Amino acid sequence: MNTKEFLNKLKPLILNKDFKSYALQLSLNQNKSDDTTVIFEVPNQFIAKYIKTRFLNEIESVLETHFHINPDIFIEVATNISKRVAKKDTKLEPKKTANNTTLNPFFTFENFVVGKSNEMAYKTANFVSLNEGMQYNPLFIYGGTGLGKTHLLQAIGNEAINNGKTVIYVTSEEFMNTFIFSLKKNNMQHFRDIYRKCDLLLIDDVQFFSGKESTQEEFFHTFNELHSLNKQVVMTADKIPSQIAGLEDRLRSRFLSGLTTKVEMPKLETKIAIIKTKCDLNKIQIDEEIVNFIATNFNNSIREIEGALVNLDAHSKIMQRSLNINQAKEVLADHLFQKQKEITMTKIIETVARELNIKPSTIKTKRTPCAVEAKRVIIYLAKELLHNNSFEIANELGMKNRSTV
Ligand code: ADP
Ligand code: MG
Repeated sequence: MNTKEFLNKLKPLILNKDFKSYALQLSLNQNKSDDTTVIFEVPNQFIAKYIKTRFLNEIESVLETHFHINPDIFIEVATNISKRVAKKDTKLEPKKTANNTTLNPFFTFENFVVGKSNEMAYKTANFVSLNEGMQYNPLFIYGGTGLGKTHLLQAIGNEAINNGKTVIYVTSEEFMNTFIFSLKKNNMQHFRDIYRKCDLLLIDDVQFFSGKESTQEEFFHTFNELHSLNKQVVMTADKIPSQIAGLEDRLRSRFLSGLTTKVEMPKLETKIAIIKTKCDLNKIQIDEEIVNFIATNFNNSIREIEGALVNLDAHSKIMQRSLNINQAKEVLADHLFQKQKEITMTKIIETVARELNIKPSTIKTKRTPCAVEAKRVIIYLAKELLHNNSFEIANELGMKNRSTV
């Protein structure tokens, strides 16, 4: 096989623009390649990265289908002999950080689906993993649970370790436990040696520091030391620093001194792409219709979507056949029903009242513009979320005429 033969087979499998701009830059290193290892060279790491992210699977499939080999594939920068990056490698050998935490090998930038809801967080995380300590320091990623914060944080770690950096990944809780343990053992020097001698400190869920004064104090010093040495610090939390209660002001202002970026629940198209990626990674096969059903009905977190996929997969394995949409709905019914149970008419009224700064009793009894507006919103939500009929809604809102609803 030579480069030309290989590219001819690859061409039909990828987008034309990808072929012209990227694939044509590939050059097979025949001297170093054999049946078990195939090495391609490219001019720079951006091209290498793009190819790895966008069509490594297609390259694998060409080698397998047309050349009947299933090798480890390396996309190397032509002048750089030390850096070998391969998808298979990453999967087989989970990376260990300097504090001995094993990073999830699936939490990589390649496996992270980017949409509007997380684009900024993804880009800054990616940037930080390549140029640590420079522009966005600290980087603070926040957002609700199950939306990809830990994934991005560990992706930074995986990438930085690939680039030979010393990385510490720690949850705030572990940081505190190790701190207390070191204090008890009178071994603070060891603790400081670990946490203050790294290129990147990745610290997950810092909202946990809330109210823990001496841990905050120690972290404050760790942070300052690393920051003054131009070392990168990345943090995540479920809230923006200004909303984390029980945090010392000096720490809060440190957290806010770099770049703060949010992850949110993705919109439909991105959810569909995430579901497809997860199915590929976990070799789960489900119908397009089921993919759409999950994407439309799961709106709180990606973790729940993964839970749904695992459930469906387990069911189809036990039943030894793939599920149709109705069977899938049945499997997921409990899950969805539970979520709907949490929403009640009383909760809707209370929430709307709070948002519009009006009393629930006022909504029911008065006809002020604000009360009328509140009723409209409540009616809409009750229909959308609870599928209540006009009679039930009119009744709850103390309205005599259900046709108004
Ligand atoms: P958080 O730390 O925000 O609570 P995680 O990072 O643990 O959430 O994400 C929960 C799960 O959802 C993980 O398995 C992660 O891989 C997945 N996930 C979240 N966002 C994405 C995304 N944009 N693309 C792919 N997987 C995602
Ligand atoms: Mg997390």
